[in-house]
Amino acid sequence: MADPRGFLKVRDRELPPNRPVEVRLRDWKDVHAHLEQGQPFLKEQAGRCMDCGIPFCHNGCPLGNLIPEWNDLVWRGQWGDAIDRLHATNNFPEFTGRICPAPCESSCVLGINQPPVTIKNVEVSIIDEAFDRGLVTPQVPQRLTGHTVAVVGSGPAGLAAAQQLTRAGHTVAVYERDDAIGGLLRYGVPDFKLEKVHIDRRLEQMSAEGTRFRAGVEVGRDVTWAQLQARYDAIVIATGATVPRELQVPGKELAGVHPAMEYLHQANAVAAGKTVENQISAEGRHVVIIGGGDTGSDCLGTALRQGAASVTTLAIGKKPPVDRPANQPWPTDPITFEVSSSHEEGGERAYLASTVEFVGGDRVQSLRLATTEYLPDGRRVPTPGTEREIPADLVLVAMGFTGPETTPLTDQLGIELTGRGLVARDDDFATTVPGVFVAGDAGRGQSLVVWAIAEGRAAAAAVDTYLSGATELPSPVTAS
Ligand code: FAD
Repeated sequence: MADPRGFLKVRDRELPPNRPVEVRLRDWKDVHAHLEQGQPFLKEQAGRCMDCGIPFCHNGCPLGNLIPEWNDLVWRGQWGDAIDRLHATNNFPEFTGRICPAPCESSCVLGINQPPVTIKNVEVSIIDEAFDRGLVTPQVPQRLTGHTVAVVGSGPAGLAAAQQLTRAGHTVAVYERDDAIGGLLRYGVPDFKLEKVHIDRRLEQMSAEGTRFRAGVEVGRDVTWAQLQARYDAIVIATGATVPRELQVPGKELAGVHPAMEYLHQANAVAAGKTVENQISAEGRHVVIIGGGDTGSDCLGTALRQGAASVTTLAIGKKPPVDRPANQPWPTDPITFEVSSSHEEGGERAYLASTVEFVGGDRVQSLRLATTEYLPDGRRVPTPGTEREIPADLVLVAMGFTGPETTPLTDQLGIELTGRGLVARDDDFATTVPGVFVAGDAGRGQSLVVWAIAEGRAAAAAVDTYLSGATELPSPVTAS
C-alpha cells in the first residue's frame, strides 16, 4: 500500500490547472499543461489511495486496471514497475489518461466521504513519464505462428486487437480507409483533447513489433471483404459506428447544415497540416450545435478556435432519472460535475431545446426551436407556444451515431446484424461467419475509448483461441 495514512493527511484532490482560456483558444494544443508545469503534488495524490480490500475501481474500469498497485508504485517513485502494471491491462493509457471520462474515479471508495483519488491524472503521468524515460519499447514476439489476421479499422479497438495479436506471434495487417491510422482518435477527437503525437509514437512501437498498416484502403470497395477472407486466417471488424443520427426537420438539406463528423474530420485534417478544399469553417459564423455530448463539445471548442461569431449548443435533455439530469445533459466530470473543457471556453447553451426547422434561402440563416416537453409515454415533443428563432448560418448536427455501415458486410460476407443494426456476435466476439470477429463500436454501438480498447483486447484473445486452440491473452470483457 502507498502511504497508509495518506488519505487522512491529504483530503483534497489536486490537479495541474488547464492552460488559461485566452491562451489556449489561440492554438490547437492540449488544454492540459501537466507536462510543462510539473506535478510536485503527484506523489501525495497517489498516496491518497487506500488500497481497499475490494478495490471497486477495478470493476469501474472495463479494462480492470490494477489501480491501487500503480498508485503505490508512483508513490514509491518506481516508474518502471508502474508502467509495467499499467500496460498489463491497458495497451494505450496515453489515450484513456487524457480523454476517458474515468468511471474508475466514480467507483473510488474514498469518494464516499472525500473527493476520489486523481486516478486518471496518475495514469497519464505514468505513461508520459515512461515515454520520456524510454521505457516504452517494442515487445517483439519470440516466435511467429504462421497465422495471418486482418484488422479492419484503426481506432482504439482495432489497434488494441492488432497489438495483442501481433505480440501473440500472428502476422497482423490493419486496414484503414482514412489516409492516416487512428480512427476517431485521429480525425474525431481534436488536438486540444488529444495531440496526435500520442498516436504516432504508439504506432512507431507497433510497427517495430511487426504490425503492418495499410492506410487509404477501404475494405468493401478497394478490396472486398470476401477477398480479405480468402487472404487471411481471421478478420477482426473494428470499423466503428460511423452512421450519424439525422435530424428529420424541414430545411435539413440547406447549405450550411452538416453532420458534426464532416466538420471535425476537416478541422482535424487542417490542424495536421493538410489542405482541405472548401473547408467548412466556423469563422465569422453564428454556429448552432445540436447535441450536448462529447461530439458536440468537440465542435464547440473547434468553432471557438476558428473564430465563430457566436456558438450556441442545443441539448434536448434526458428524461429523469438519468445520470445526467435534464438540466445538465453535458459531459460531466465524475467528481465535480463540471462541463467539458470546451464549455469553459465560451458559447451559449440551451437545455431542453428541440429544433423545429432550419430557415433560409439557399443557405441556412436561422433555426427555429422550442422548449422540449416529455409526454407520459416518454416521447419528447416541442411545447406549443414556446417557439423562437436564433441566428444560425452554420449548423452542426451532433446527435450521435446509429451504428456501423453494414451493406458491404452483409452483401460480401453474409454477416448478420442485430435488431439495432450492429454486427451480431456471441459472447466471445465471434460474428455469424466463422473466423470473423468484431470489436468496438461496430458491435457495441457508440461508446467510449476505454470500452473499445477492452473489446479489442478481448476479441484478440478470442481470435488467438480460434487460431491456436488456446490463448494466454487476457480477456477483460465479454461481448454481452
Ligand atoms: P473508431 O475509432 O470509430 O475507428 C473505426 C475506424 O474504422 C475509422 O478510422 C474508420 O475510418 C475505419 N473504417 C470504417 N469502415 C472501414 C472500411 N470499410 N475499411 C477500412 N476502414 C474502415 N470517447 C471517450 O472515451 N472520450 C472522449 O472524449 C470521446 N470523444 C469523442 C469525440 C467524438 C467527436 C466522437 C465521434 C467520439 C468520441 N468518443 C470519445 C468515442 C470514441 O472515440 C469511440 O467510442 C471509439 O473511438 C470507438 O473505437 P473503434 O475502434 O470501435 O472505432
